[in-house]
Amino acid sequence: MIIVKTAEEIELMRESALIVSKTLGMLAKEVKPGVSTLQLDTLAETFIRDHGGVPGFLGLYDFPNSLCMSPNAQVVHGIPNDKPLVDGDIISIDCGVLKNDFYGDHAYTFEVGEVAIETKKMLDVTKESLYVGIREFKKGNRVGDVGYAIQKFTEDHGYGVVRELVGHGLGRKMHEDPEMPNYGKRGRGKTFIEGMVVAIEPMTNLGTRRIKQLKDGWTILTADGKPSAHFEHNIALVDGKPELLSTFQYVYEALGIESNEEDEFRKKKLQL
Ligand code: MG
Ligand code: MG
Repeated sequence: MIIVKTAEEIELMRESALIVSKTLGMLAKEVKPGVSTLQLDTLAETFIRDHGGVPGFLGLYDFPNSLCMSPNAQVVHGIPNDKPLVDGDIISIDCGVLKNDFYGDHAYTFEVGEVAIETKKMLDVTKESLYVGIREFKKGNRVGDVGYAIQKFTEDHGYGVVRELVGHGLGRKMHEDPEMPNYGKRGRGKTFIEGMVVAIEPMTNLGTRRIKQLKDGWTILTADGKPSAHFEHNIALVDGKPELLSTFQYVYEALGIESNEEDEFRKKKLQL
């Protein structure tokens, strides 16, 4: 059952999402060769609590940490550890925050030092595919329209679209209806309705779409050992159109990147 949100609830969700956005922005400055994912996890937990939130993943389904940290061939759900990142790594950081009873949940894949050109290209395409999907999250469209658009865009670039893990509705629970796959058929699945809030989150592999899971019961990685990227935003359906609740602008500010990629999904200009 899809739980629609009131305008007031959507503003609370924006607050939770923006704590995640700020956390990712803080981490953007700290991601570099020599730092461990566990150090980053500790920084994030402190930052989230200092901003009046609670880490949304910590203890959720018994996950042991605040961040899912998935380097290189890890797709999602990697567990932070004390192994230092090295030059040329990529690291997907997924972060959740609970505040005012509502969750924020979004993700960004960072470059560590100098990354291979083919990997950089995959990061760009994965992030672009997120916006291609968000564009389809509008009145009258269906779940399959978002999935189809992401899949088509990604596969046209020759990459693998992970099937086993999907986006989702978001609210008082981290995972609400509907499931939002990154593949699908036009015109299929549940119809989008005003007041829905979803997390759209393409997980894209440089090689095969096939995945496997580590014995830790969490970590998902590519079957062929090639890198994988993950970008996620939180979006509300407002006045029939997608309205971004999360932002990558804190990350871009930290990294000195200029981008207007989010402007079409925002009614009011974002005040950083
Ligand atoms: Mg997430
Ligand atoms: Mg999610």
